[in-house]
Amino acid sequence: MHRPLVVQKFGGSSVANADRIRRVARRIARERSAGSDLVIVVSAMGDTTDELLTLAHAITDEPDARELDMLLATGEHQSATLVSMALHALGVDAISLTGPQAGITTDGRYGRARIANVEPRRIRAEIERGNVVIVAGFQGQSAADADRAEITTLGRGGSDTTAVALAAALRADRCQIFTDVRGIYTADPRLVPAARQLPVIGYEEMLELAHQGAQVMQVRAVELGWVNDVVIEVLSSFEDAPGTLIREDPFVEQRNKVRGLAHDRNVAKVTLVDVPDRPGVARAVFEPLAEAGINVDMIVQNVGHGGATDMSFTVPRAELGKAKKVLESLVRELGARELTTDASVAKVSIVGAGLHNAPGYAARMFGALADAGVNIEMISTSEVRITCMIAEDELSTALAALHGAFELTRPDPVDVTATGLSAG
Ligand code: ADP
Ligand code: ASP
Ligand code: MG
Repeated sequence: MHRPLVVQKFGGSSVANADRIRRVARRIARERSAGSDLVIVVSAMGDTTDELLTLAHAITDEPDARELDMLLATGEHQSATLVSMALHALGVDAISLTGPQAGITTDGRYGRARIANVEPRRIRAEIERGNVVIVAGFQGQSAADADRAEITTLGRGGSDTTAVALAAALRADRCQIFTDVRGIYTADPRLVPAARQLPVIGYEEMLELAHQGAQVMQVRAVELGWVNDVVIEVLSSFEDAPGTLIREDPFVEQRNKVRGLAHDRNVAKVTLVDVPDRPGVARAVFEPLAEAGINVDMIVQNVGHGGATDMSFTVPRAELGKAKKVLESLVRELGARELTTDASVAKVSIVGAGLHNAPGYAARMFGALADAGVNIEMISTSEVRITCMIAEDELSTALAALHGAFELTRPDPVDVTATGLSAG
């Protein structure tokens, strides 16, 4: 008889304290008695990862990357062991494994490693022994030989990726991401009370939402799901309510062109004032930033006046300090007037797979922001999104205005006629 294999991931808020861990264990026990084999992926408890980061930075401004990953990985070790113990207390056989024990190997980039391979032999053996297997999320082991292998972490939100990677490697029957909201919404429900839950969202649109800041799923997890055809179910760990399926969306052409909004506060604006307007300047600016591993996103260069021009771009807010260091000496070398930065900005995006052949949406977006009195500082577009940079304190105003302008509260006609779809 085929026993279904289910991968379930529980995020930080779902395991934030002993009570919640016991509750998660009861949920797992229920699923277990229904006859499933289970692989459980957990995040660190509550804000543990942030607290560990703060602690490291209280010791030194620039913690060693290897030691930092060793430290951060302990957050998930804690929660994995505790969930296992909670299952034992309920009479359920369970064992916790670290990422490396679970067979997850990665490249060697500390703090943002990518999974290179999953060899789930140990997991399979533990399932055979009758155990529920609890895997510490967000981590793996760099693939070097045993003498030099190191613990790596997968970047913020990386437990999502652990779960999807394991579901793919184990060819699991289901992959469920339990979190603190009921599923994927048309906008972050914490900021936009009118946001509507989506029964289904296609990989491409989810990927873009994640790229543009919707932290509910890590970008890499969506990519892995897409490539491996893993249907990802996002649902609440606090209530029994239908979730959202992330999967190939056959109806994408028939849907509302704008599927959702995303926002990102982890952004800062950098401006080089009066840089000489001559060939080679852009390279001189962006090459050293790239070498320092800093991701530059929106770029605007104004029309030059009298041989000089202003150049503005965005970097992740968390990397502003590093970017400043790289650029300060360059400002002198290039003969620019000054370097200014602004960390109180944010990005808002409209996302939809249908946007590329739908003229007029940019104008509608700008119009909605203008009517709400929100000033647009920068704009960028791709096939499936339009992004505006605005002042951070106008974020909720902007999101509310866009949500209204694109009628996102109104159910998608396709979802209404094809509700059978949402049942999976
Ligand atoms: P977990 O700890 O379970 O991994 P996260 O905090 O990483 O949870 O992600 C869940 C959060 O993502 C929600 O609380 C919500 O505020 C935020 N979020 C942002 N955009 C969306 C969206 N479009 N749909 C649902 N949640 C969203
Ligand atoms: N604990 C890690 C973080 O806070 C990984 C995760 O939660 O997915 O980013
Ligand atoms: Mg998360």
